Amino acid sequence: MKILIVGAGMAGLSAARILAKYHEVTVVDKGRGVGGRMATRKIGDCQADHGAQYFSVQSDDFQSLINQLLTENVVSTWQLAQRTNIRYFGSKGMKTIPKKMAENINVILNEKVSEIVNNKLLTESGNEYFFDQLILTQPVPQIQELLKQSSMLISAKDESALNGIKYEPCIAVMTVLNQVTEIPSGGIMLENQPVAWIADNFQKGISDKPCVTLHASADFSTENLEGDLNGIAQKMLESVEEFIPKSSIETFQVHRWRYSLASSRYPTSFYQFDDKAIFMAGDGFGIGNVEGAFLSGLKVAEFIVEKSLKTAR
Ligand SMILES: Cc1cc2nc3c(=O)[nH]c(=O)nc-3n(C[C@H](O)[C@H](O)[C@H](O)COP(=O)(O)OP(=O)(O)OC[C@H]3O[C@@H](n4cnc5c(N)ncnc54)[C@H](O)[C@@H]3O)c2cc1C
Repeated sequence: MKILIVGAGMAGLSAARILAKYHEVTVVDKGRGVGGRMATRKIGDCQADHGAQYFSVQSDDFQSLINQLLTENVVSTWQLAQRTNIRYFGSKGMKTIPKKMAENINVILNEKVSEIVNNKLLTESGNEYFFDQLILTQPVPQIQELLKQSSMLISAKDESALNGIKYEPCIAVMTVLNQVTEIPSGGIMLENQPVAWIADNFQKGISDKPCVTLHASADFSTENLEGDLNGIAQKMLESVEEFIPKSSIETFQVHRWRYSLASSRYPTSFYQFDDKAIFMAGDGFGIGNVEGAFLSGLKVAEFIVEKSLKTAR
């Protein structure tokens, strides 16, 4: 069976790893690299995680992958300054985790899917991909946009399932510094301020030079989402001057995440459209976050494999 997966983030790759054992799987992503919101950016000699910063592990399924990645030094543990439970991150940046997961998977990058026509995906570059089963793992508002562009009629039940899934935005600033900070190695969580999270990627061990990631709070990000990004970054930096003196800033970059954490999710791990060949998965389904995205991909893959094995019997 030909299975197409849109999105080479945690959910898409988690599904692809299982499905590729039984079927012909292709993952298509609009990005230049894999990982989606598990993102690491290079700025000169520095590196910064600017999407997900860390993740927790509660399920046996995710723990088994993380244990394997710990032994391969792809993942490290992280003790946050203000939390007791152990968290995990990519030893050389968060992106190295999806990169490792994508080994041996057929991933096609720089391909933005623009339309679904019957059992065919069309991309902006003019390519066509046929499928027997399709899994969409983009943030749900982007799936809705794709369905609209495809003039796909969806049932009232599907429509209301999609409308209930919501994401918080997040404005991220990555700033390169000329001196080491006194930010604790486990980062700082702030409350009721423009900035909600600060972490020094040098102390985290993923950057050769001091480079700090700031995440604006959900409220501040929502209020300023459409504003001038440079001005917003300045405001964020001014609000944390006690941790990042103005004189230490060499340069900074800003990134606007329209979808960061899925704050309101569909209760089960994935969704099957009434039109049975199309599924949705990702962090908008189930428990959310990095682990939720992994489990969502795993569960939709197990479902498709089980169904195809039954049909073959
Ligand atoms: C700023 C920020 C901070 C976060 N912090 C944490 C944290 O500390 N801990 C935690 O557990 N989680 C955190 N998260 C959430 C976590 O990153 C996500 O839950 C998880 O990575 C989602 O994975 P996914 O595969 O569902 O989606 P994504 O990673 O978004 O993958 C979807 C993929 O679809 C691709 N795509 C979209 N549209 C198209 C199209 N038309 N054609 C082709 N490809 C397309 C995208 O390029 C992307 O690669 C954070 C996220 C952000 C942004």
